[in-house]
Amino acid sequence: MQQKSRVPKSLYNIDATGKRHRIYPQDITGKFTRIRTKLGYLLIIIYLLPPWLEINGLPVIQLNIPDRQFILFGSIFWPQDVQYLVFIFILAGLFLFFITALFGRVWCGWACPQTIFLEFVLRRIEYWIEGDRPAQIKLDKSPWTPSKISKKSIKHLLFLLVAAIVSNTFLAYFTGINSLLQWISSPPWENWTAFLFMLFFLLLFYFDLAHFQEQYCNLVCPYARFQSALIDSQTIQVMYDPLRGEPRGRKSQVTGDCIDCNACTRACPTGIDIRNGSQLECIGCTRCIDACDRIMTRIKKPKGLVRYESEQGLEGKKPSIIRPRIVVYTLFLTIITSSFIWVLLNRPLVEYQLIRPKGSPYTLLAQDQVSNHFSLRLINKDLKPHQIRLAQQAGADITLIVPLSPYPLKANSTYQLAFFLMVPRDKLSSGRLKIPLQVFIDEVLQKNIDLVFIGPSS
Ligand code: SF4
Ligand code: SF4
Repeated sequence: MQQKSRVPKSLYNIDATGKRHRIYPQDITGKFTRIRTKLGYLLIIIYLLPPWLEINGLPVIQLNIPDRQFILFGSIFWPQDVQYLVFIFILAGLFLFFITALFGRVWCGWACPQTIFLEFVLRRIEYWIEGDRPAQIKLDKSPWTPSKISKKSIKHLLFLLVAAIVSNTFLAYFTGINSLLQWISSPPWENWTAFLFMLFFLLLFYFDLAHFQEQYCNLVCPYARFQSALIDSQTIQVMYDPLRGEPRGRKSQVTGDCIDCNACTRACPTGIDIRNGSQLECIGCTRCIDACDRIMTRIKKPKGLVRYESEQGLEGKKPSIIRPRIVVYTLFLTIITSSFIWVLLNRPLVEYQLIRPKGSPYTLLAQDQVSNHFSLRLINKDLKPHQIRLAQQAGADITLIVPLSPYPLKANSTYQLAFFLMVPRDKLSSGRLKIPLQVFIDEVLQKNIDLVFIGPSS
């Protein structure tokens, strides 16, 4: 059946003058809400806990921007490891494409921190203090009485508390929990920068969670913009079944199952009507499924007028998992994941880079000797120290001078090891001499480096 389009020309929560309508989603219960609630609280723990946990004395996850280190599950990634971050971002993006092609915006509705905190923390506080949708609408329309002022004040104080927990956890992912606790416990005048930073993020998260809410998904999040390019007619998402539901209405001669009660719309956190088909504002939260199932149970009709379904499924065709985009995503995911694992397993824990310091390339010494100054930049990404030793095998008359050999390189550190080479002048007929240098780590030969010694040509 061809469904008449009732999609409005502007966003549901914005009127013709551009003014925002506040959305009051009805509190609902049902199969999907129960599963989402349990998963939501589990995810809240998963999102809040990592900064408090340590592996090998390091945070589980920390993006330490000042020290230019990325810590992941007890391993430190340095700026030289940027390729691993690129791998992680590509994999996360591909996985999101893959999951969207299969199940639409399942990430938005089931796992996105914005939805989870809004739905299972902020909205629960709101229902608890102001009551369900009708009571909230009534309260907002009522004059400012002491009761309304106290309800609104308590609600926003609790919102601020939640925003403080979320914003500080967000910061802890960058600063580490110890620095953050130190910032929190010291008075603002001891570290104004830290204080202003915390205040900025507190107000930002408070504004987002308490006021901006569903507009973040509609107006800011880029994922909503390109999701329509990722789904196809076989993608399973929250759908209304017009074949079963239409023609809608409450009159006895109407034959469709939809009684036009608008329970699905009242439950929707973005204020849309799922009966208008797949829409940009739909975050796939399943609230409308539970709302409609309750109505179907009440009017003794089978559940599932709004359900997880594909466009083809609504037409009675069985959707297939094996389709070109799914095959391509699976292929890319397999190749990139296996390459990532291989690269990760072969990642050198100690890296070195030969540097020739600026200035004169050589120094003439007494007894017809020429000296060159070099530096070996050492990076120990390992959580244990290593002994670094240099050796040269060019001949007994070439002298290698290292201030400390072997050099004890501390765990998780970098060091610029300066060293000198001295060569008799008569060996430098062309002004250049290749000298093989060996780098030993814990007395195991790691690499042969051919360095070029420069001197005056005879
Ligand atoms: S239409 Fe349904 S699934 Fe989509 S956002 Fe609204 S309630 Fe959630
Ligand atoms: S809840 Fe179900 S019956 Fe009521 S308007 Fe929505 S689709 Fe129709």
